[in-house]
Amino acid sequence: MTQEELFKKLIAHSKEYGFVFQSSEIYDGLSAVYDYGQNGVELKNNIRQYWWEAMTRLNENIVGIDSAIFMHPKVWTASGHVGAFSDPLIDNKDSKKRYRADVLIEEWIEKQSEKISKEVTKAKKRFGDSFDEAMFIKTNPRVLETQEKIDTVSNRMATSLGEDDLAEVKKIIEDCEIACPVSGTRNWTEVRHFNLMFDTKMGSVSDDANVIYLRPETAQGIFVNYLNVQKTGRMKLPFGIAQIGKAFRNEIVARQFVFRMREFEQMEMQFFVRPGEELEWFEFWKEKRMRWHTALGFGDDNYRFHEHAKLAHYANAAFDIEYKFPFGFKEVEGIHSRTDFDLASHQKLSGKKLQYFDSELNKNYVPYVVETSIGLDRTFLMVLSAAYTEEKITRDNGKVDERVVLRIPPALAPIKLGVFPLVNKDGLPDKARQIMDDLKVDFKCQYEEKDSIGKRYRRHDAIGTPFCVTIDHQSLEDNTVTIRHRDTMEQERVDASRLREIMEEKVSMKSLLRSI
Ligand code: ATP
Repeated sequence: MTQEELFKKLIAHSKEYGFVFQSSEIYDGLSAVYDYGQNGVELKNNIRQYWWEAMTRLNENIVGIDSAIFMHPKVWTASGHVGAFSDPLIDNKDSKKRYRADVLIEEWIEKQSEKISKEVTKAKKRFGDSFDEAMFIKTNPRVLETQEKIDTVSNRMATSLGEDDLAEVKKIIEDCEIACPVSGTRNWTEVRHFNLMFDTKMGSVSDDANVIYLRPETAQGIFVNYLNVQKTGRMKLPFGIAQIGKAFRNEIVARQFVFRMREFEQMEMQFFVRPGEELEWFEFWKEKRMRWHTALGFGDDNYRFHEHAKLAHYANAAFDIEYKFPFGFKEVEGIHSRTDFDLASHQKLSGKKLQYFDSELNKNYVPYVVETSIGLDRTFLMVLSAAYTEEKITRDNGKVDERVVLRIPPALAPIKLGVFPLVNKDGLPDKARQIMDDLKVDFKCQYEEKDSIGKRYRRHDAIGTPFCVTIDHQSLEDNTVTIRHRDTMEQERVDASRLREIMEEKVSMKSLLRSI
């Protein structure tokens, strides 16, 4: 199965099992907006809890807030979003399709890299065991020529975007002879900036004074509240403020399912530090955030750091944590050293002092900030991509069966325990309900009595339920039940009174948090 097929299956599976639905589906959907279904919302809540507790419980000096989505419009002037939060876009005059100019160039670069990979594969076949790949890449004239093209175009793109030279961006598209994938022509408009913020009107008078924005990031709600929190919480530097909430961006190229949405959720933490100490804290948070990811057990090799070639207007260092999605390594989280850019510009525009008094240094200053910013929806997609597994199972009678199982870390699984009476009579449902009532305060349980036990197991494999118990006639006599483990499919007969203890360690958020 190719990665593309895998991704398609994952999207279909998400819908079929109540994880993600297209928004307003009965009206043919709203592009790049999604709803979470009955299982999706549980998984999302668990990821949210994992992040929130890792931040605000495990770090004594981090507290949370929940600021409003609407903020004073000046916030977005000070933050630079009104002036600079934009993507360079270009339209094809024939197809009328709009593209991100930088993405068109990146795709061209990707194609050139594929050409190199193809040359390497061909040569590997030709030379067999004696093939020296590193040497081939260093010396083959066709590879060298393509690599040089890639390097030149990459450099030109970084420089032109850095200098905001949109004419040069267009020239690159022309020089590379990039054609519109829809019309096939190279009939392009100029490259223009397109602001990603959604605006709306507040109040009843529709003049420009009432324009407000849907926040494109949650961070600004933290900045404008930093002194409120510092003073009322008597926080001492270094300290952090965490927030989880919706953000909105009018993405031009919205695709790849919940990877890039127009309405999404961010989990952000701003860590306030002494000026000059920010790069040390930056390293600290890079490592710490990577540990949060690897504790999920998706394989350390599936993560990597990626350093930003072009820094955002506010940053003096920036790294992404990338995960290997079915469509390649892509950003899940950004770690940015934002200097005092935000606080200093809010101080300037509002005219309100945003300084911190450092009693050890006996000095007032505007703190520097290190930010960790992760997308909840992207993390959700990461968990699903890592968890989705198709397995072939050989039965005792030699028959081969297939199952789809979501190997979601138990602490994040939407349902922790499936509770099944073997048959829907003889008092078994009552016994099953009794067991469920006893456990439902501790874990999210689901009662199911329809279909064969085998089918019920499959349904729960498909949504990642780590444990299922079956209650049979013997249960009525000696209070024992069969517990079945999702990953190994092993079944064991245990006393029902031990279920809590057996599951507790494996499904609890506590053990996941301890393993970071
Ligand atoms: P990208 O380069 O993918 O557009 P970004 O660098 O603009 O992302 P940030 O502004 O650093 O992203 O936002 C922090 C995090 O928020 C990202 O790492 C990502 O997980 C999430 N995020 C950003 N934009 C979106 C989106 N449109 N849909 C879903 N998640 C998003």
